[in-house]
Amino acid sequence: MNKLDRAIFHLMLSRSVCTDLASLDMHSLFCLTNELGGLLSSLEEDSSRVARLRGYWLNLETIYAVNDDANVDGFSRNEKEIIEESVVEIRKLISHVLEQYLQESDKAVTSIATVLDDKWLMCPDCIDAWESVSKTAMVICPKCDNALHNPRYG
Ligand SMILES: [Zn+2]
Repeated sequence: MNKLDRAIFHLMLSRSVCTDLASLDMHSLFCLTNELGGLLSSLEEDSSRVARLRGYWLNLETIYAVNDDANVDGFSRNEKEIIEESVVEIRKLISHVLEQYLQESDKAVTSIATVLDDKWLMCPDCIDAWESVSKTAMVICPKCDNALHNPRYG
């Protein structure tokens, strides 16, 4: 997994990105902008995907910056719309990258998931088992987030 994909994948799994939009508050916005900012600063790749992520991050960062802790009433309607749109687009971008990643065998990864039966795989790194009937080249352990080769591929 290259640096960009891995970083994006971690971001996707983070709680704040998965936050229910209806319950999005200043704290989850802070977490999200922090994580996204960290992700963007670690990226060297200069692609349109990164540029789009950076744009959505800037939307969120700006809203967070103008809503300091003096504002206890939450976001304005307009801000809420911008936040929701940005979070939805960030999620889409991340899901897309992840789907693409899983389709091709990653030569940087040496571990292979273990088949337990028709429906279950086990992670050799953390010994956790999970239900999976995926036929993609790669699978991700839901417990330790490690990428593994899928024994059901091919
Ligand atoms: Zn694992």
